[in-house]
Amino acid sequence: MSKKEYLREQREKMIREEGIIFLDHVSKSYSTGAPALDDVTLHIGKGEFVFIVGDSGSGKSTLIKLLLRELVASDGSVFVMGHNLAKLKHRQIPKFRRNLGVVFQDFRLLNDRNVYENVAFAQRIVETPVSEIRRNVPAILATVGLAGKYKAKTKRLSGGEQQRVALARALINNPSILLADEPTGNLDPKNSWEIMKLLEEINEQGTTVVVVTHNREIVNAMQKRVVTMKKGVIVSDEEEGAYIDED
Ligand code: ADP
Ligand code: MG
Repeated sequence: MSKKEYLREQREKMIREEGIIFLDHVSKSYSTGAPALDDVTLHIGKGEFVFIVGDSGSGKSTLIKLLLRELVASDGSVFVMGHNLAKLKHRQIPKFRRNLGVVFQDFRLLNDRNVYENVAFAQRIVETPVSEIRRNVPAILATVGLAGKYKAKTKRLSGGEQQRVALARALINNPSILLADEPTGNLDPKNSWEIMKLLEEINEQGTTVVVVTHNREIVNAMQKRVVTMKKGVIVSDEEEGAYIDED
C-alpha cells in the first residue's frame, strides 16, 4: 500500500467513526448552467440538528439528493454513515436508504390509500413481519399526533396531517438520519411549528436531523446550527444561528 493510499484509508476510517455526514470538497454540475454546488465541505455529526437555508436555486435540494444518492457528485466525495456514496453499488442503494428517512414539501403520499397503509408500506418494503407492523404503525402514528386517523384516506387530510403521515412513514424504520427538504413549505404557521417541534423531538431521541427551510421565524426561534448557502457555496455555518437577511 502506498503512503497516499494509507492516508486515504485512515481518513475514511475517521469519517466512519466520527461523522455521519461528510461532504469533502463536493461539486455538482448539471448539464447546463453554473455548478449547483461548488466545492462544498460540510460535516454533520451524529445527533445534530441542522437547518440549511438560502435563496431558491442556491443548491439546497441538490445537497439533499446527493445525501440520498439520487445524484452522484461531479467532484469530491460524499460520505454518509461511513459509506463513500460514489462507491456504493446499485444493489446496495436500497439497503443504504433504509437508514435514511426523507420528507418533502409535497408530502409524496399514496393518495388513494389510507394513513395506515401509507406507513405500513415502508415496513413491508423492508420485509418487517406483519405482527410487528401492526404494533409499530399505531405507535408511530401516536407520536406524530395521528392516533385516531389511521383509516382516513390521505387525500382527505389537511396539509398538516398529510405531513405528519409522511413523517411517520419516514420514521417507521428507525432511520439514523432524517432529511427534510422544505417540510413546512405548504403548511400554515401553526402546522409549520408543530412539524418543526416534532422534528426537534425526533432529534432529541438521537436521530440526526437536516432540515432545508425558508421559514425565517422558526429558524430564528429554534437556535440550532444554521448552514447558509448561496449560489452553490456555503457562506456561513453557525451554531445557534439565525436566518441571514439577503442584500
Ligand atoms: P434549491 O433547492 O436551493 O432551490 P437546487 O439544488 O434545486 O436549489 O438547484 C440549484 C441549481 O441547480 C439551480 O440553478 C437549478 O436551476 C439547478 N438545477 C437543479 N436541478 C437541476 C436539473 N435537474 N437540471 C439542471 N439544472 C438543475
Ligand atoms: Mg429546493
